[in-house]
Amino acid sequence: MTDTIQEVDVAVVGAGVAGCYTAWRLRTLVKQQLAAKSPLLPLLKNKDRLDVALFEYSDRVGGRLWSAAVKDMPDQFVEFGGMRFYKEMHIVWNLIEKLGLDRYAIPFPVGMPENFVYVRAQHVRRSEVTQPNALPYRLHYLEQGKTTGALADYVCDVAIQGFIKLRNAYAAAFEAGDWDKVELLRKDYEARKQTSKLGNRTVYEMSWWELQTKVLSSEAFKLVLQTSGYDVANTNGNAAHSIDEIFYSPTKGGFWRLSHGFEDVPDKLQQEFQDQGGLTFLLHRLLRFDKVDPHTEGGPYDLVFHQRRSAKDPVYDSDEAALARSGEKCSKVRAKMIVLAMPVRALSLLDQDNFFFRPPPRLRVDRRAKFQTAMNAVLRVDAFKLFVAYRHPWWEQTGVSKGQSVTDLPVRQCYYWAATDRGNSILMATYNNGVAVPYWQALQSGPPFPPDDSALAAGDPFHGRAFAQVNRVGLRLAGNPASAVASAAMLTQLPRTATQAMVEQAHAQLTEMHDVKHAPMPYDAHFQDWSVDPFGAGWHQWKSGTNEDGTIPYMQQPMEEEPVFIVGECWSNAQGWVQGALNTSEAMLQDMLGLPWPDWLSKGGTWLGPRTRLLS
Ligand SMILES: Cc1cc2nc3c(=O)[nH]c(=O)nc-3n(C[C@H](O)[C@H](O)[C@H](O)COP(=O)(O)OP(=O)(O)OC[C@H]3O[C@@H](n4cnc5c(N)ncnc54)[C@H](O)[C@@H]3O)c2cc1C
Repeated sequence: MTDTIQEVDVAVVGAGVAGCYTAWRLRTLVKQQLAAKSPLLPLLKNKDRLDVALFEYSDRVGGRLWSAAVKDMPDQFVEFGGMRFYKEMHIVWNLIEKLGLDRYAIPFPVGMPENFVYVRAQHVRRSEVTQPNALPYRLHYLEQGKTTGALADYVCDVAIQGFIKLRNAYAAAFEAGDWDKVELLRKDYEARKQTSKLGNRTVYEMSWWELQTKVLSSEAFKLVLQTSGYDVANTNGNAAHSIDEIFYSPTKGGFWRLSHGFEDVPDKLQQEFQDQGGLTFLLHRLLRFDKVDPHTEGGPYDLVFHQRRSAKDPVYDSDEAALARSGEKCSKVRAKMIVLAMPVRALSLLDQDNFFFRPPPRLRVDRRAKFQTAMNAVLRVDAFKLFVAYRHPWWEQTGVSKGQSVTDLPVRQCYYWAATDRGNSILMATYNNGVAVPYWQALQSGPPFPPDDSALAAGDPFHGRAFAQVNRVGLRLAGNPASAVASAAMLTQLPRTATQAMVEQAHAQLTEMHDVKHAPMPYDAHFQDWSVDPFGAGWHQWKSGTNEDGTIPYMQQPMEEEPVFIVGECWSNAQGWVQGALNTSEAMLQDMLGLPWPDWLSKGGTWLGPRTRLLS
């Protein structure tokens, strides 16, 4: 049975960082600052605040930001999803400052000189890789002595004339805060990229894989692939996307993370949204949405949600009648506008038989084909993370205690997360994306890795485990009848417990890559595989053969007469980053809804991505 529970101005669906941000901006906007043509003004005729509701499939907010506390280490939250950022990503950093979370920012070291590069059964320290013949690859003369980064720069320089010089000038202008110059150089780069070709193929047509194999020897390509830790060198993502990644990353300075977890960002946004009267509904799975009046343009829309009983047991039925037959409950919400803050897989799980996924042609444009082309323009990149806890940081005997070591074994890369002298040491044991993920998927079934009962003290909030997560949003919403949160939402919960087989494999590979014969087994391990629904991917890449410049603004509002918007990392100019999720949200809010530039966000050095329709 489906009850109508709410009528709202805007329904934001998906409480990842993009959804939380959008809901927060909409609820806290100042009516007098909206653009004269803002479609929000009619909704605000007799009031100052929009009625905004945020709906989320799971029993937590944060989506692909998922942080957990670590036993005996109050400042060392582990990150099962996104973890790091550059302060040069202004929309991320300025938001962190605005939310008062900057006091938790700590440096995030990556390539330390003492870190291991263990490939082709040879142990090398990172500081040694530039020595001739240090690594067991038969490189051409010109490729010898170059780091992975230098080889990648070389590939970019061949593809885009003057790339290295331009990138250095851009980075120097950024560092100096010369924003006019930054903007000029950015435009120069973007223009050059549009016309750059190798042979007769543009950098949009070529995959990054194809481009590298054209420029590098086969051995140099393998070196880049095997020593980077990430499997992003051999995907069908377009070369332009990968070149952007390099161009926009700072040449100096490094990464940062939030010691109390990146999830603090969506959590704080949701908290402020709630404090300002916004409504949040956890365990609400959007099934479909329809126009109330199919014969008029624009809203309102009816959204049908499945009210899930728990986040643990998935129910796959997506038909209301079938759900009712099995005793499941649905609810209906009427909204004048909808923001879909979810990636491609989540969108494709919604009922596709409606006006939005099957739009009628308009001005001789086959809008259904156009929308499907945009849906298919992105590649889903699998991602998997396993954290293991040891009683003792055995790796420190080899001289490593921070940073990242890499290998061609299936663990691919490990990060030295933290160690205390109180018998707890954490490794991000493996962080995979792409081809190594199926290796770990095969190890996901079988007996779970048992907790160490000897550590189980009375009143231990960690219950003998190394990691714990308190669902703060669930707790905040408890007792709020409008939120309709099932009791399950208040539980302390975590990503999945690792299996015995998974831990044994990870441990064996970790000791091999550190050249250590014996090390005690871990006492706890948890993992997250992001290829599961409703995410369907860790992150996304633009496929080869696509040029995202038109697709990014198009996806923010695919039907110009219908206020149904899409935001998030998936169709952004910074895929794989929180920055991408925030860029599309902010660009949509300004360009389609007429919100002003936020006063806390530096205009200098901030590019929200390609924009076509500007309301503000
Ligand atoms: C392993 C990994 C490492 C990463 N590392 C970094 C990093 O170091 N730095 C960085 O900046 N970024 C990183 N990222 C990327 C970053 O995490 C994402 O770009 C960002 O979190 C995406 O936010 P989003 O709001 O666009 O999407 P999501 O976080 O995916 O949010 C979508 C939300 O929609 C909900 N949803 C889906 N379907 C429905 C439905 N039918 N009804 C209701 N709700 C629904 C989902 O449950 C989810 O909460 C990483 C990602 C992964 C997976």
